[in-house]
Amino acid sequence: MCGSFTETLTYSLSDSSGGTDHYYADVAAFTDEVLAKLHTEQAVGKFSRYLALRKLELFAPDVCALEYLMIGVLWKVYGDRAVAGSVFTGRLLSSLYGQKGRSAGARRAVDRLKGIAGTAILARHRRSEVRIRLQEFARLVGWLQASGEFEQECKRLALWLDFMKGLPDEESDSILVKAVKKAVWFEHESAGRLGSYTTSVDSYIERNQQRLKWQENRIFCSRARVEYHLNMVGAEIMNRVFHEGFLAATEKMVFLPVCMRNKAAEACRAVQEGTGYVCKGCSVNCRVNAATKMAAAYGCKVLMIPHASTAFGRERIQRGEVGIVGVACVLNLISGGYKAKEMGYEPQCVLLHHTGCVQHWHPEGIETCIDLERLERILQEGQTS
Ligand code: SF4
Repeated sequence: MCGSFTETLTYSLSDSSGGTDHYYADVAAFTDEVLAKLHTEQAVGKFSRYLALRKLELFAPDVCALEYLMIGVLWKVYGDRAVAGSVFTGRLLSSLYGQKGRSAGARRAVDRLKGIAGTAILARHRRSEVRIRLQEFARLVGWLQASGEFEQECKRLALWLDFMKGLPDEESDSILVKAVKKAVWFEHESAGRLGSYTTSVDSYIERNQQRLKWQENRIFCSRARVEYHLNMVGAEIMNRVFHEGFLAATEKMVFLPVCMRNKAAEACRAVQEGTGYVCKGCSVNCRVNAATKMAAAYGCKVLMIPHASTAFGRERIQRGEVGIVGVACVLNLISGGYKAKEMGYEPQCVLLHHTGCVQHWHPEGIETCIDLERLERILQEGQTS
């Protein structure tokens, strides 16, 4: 439970008792319905077989179904911006983002560029009645790449693009139009089924419009309510699909975000190790401390990670050896799942109850928390398998 939590920024999983059991039951039931609906589309199975034949990763039909829905949702949210942008500028921006990892100076420069692009270039709209065809889908993927926020999603959507390029035009057009219809259904249904957890998203965006201008996180912090719902369902799907791999992994680890600790960075005694920090237990009230002690009882190491983008480092590990429980806020769940798999980890995730980090959401930061019992159940299962 999050005892001191008083302010909802965008989403909150807590019910009146402060727990998340209702949320997890709601999202599990809704995910069953979403998957049943998506698997009626032949394109999902066909794409899954296309990947399997080429020995490409993540051909599980449920992951392909999620991506089919993602095509429609992202088109609905960003399609009018994607068709208004220049393909050349998009390519230039996405190639410049690749320089971010070179140094701290390069990172600052890229962040400045992202802020300018997100406010002045990528925000241009065109009338949204443009019908999606393959060419428009390609522009959408280009826009998403240029935004610098959908790196992992774009890798998967690029596979869908290649797949559809090999189909007759009529068939690819029909696949895309049906994906958008599914997204229309999803937006409506998810508002009823998961909307009670995301009631503050729109007002947060409205209130913070001015503050986010020219900021590198403008697009990230302004993401639509339906994208929260997509990530909630996506995380549930990924947890199911990757569960066996996680259980089979010989080593287990937990990645926690720094926004869970109860001291400022200068006062925290955690010690750097690899891409993260190991808690040294300087505060009995700190949730990172509690999670670290609990995980130690199951032989699991906990690393506190300063930023989601650097969580996995640069080196891929031996596939299947390390199972990881990643704790993240809703908007990082799908991309985090893909990234973990790409780097060789077998992931599961636990959601932060709410947003709060100082980098993105709140000028002073709000201490965040998780359902510790849920994390413990996952580690327990991992130990006994
Ligand atoms: S208990 Fe751990 S994570 Fe929390 S402030 Fe102290 S060293 Fe940092």
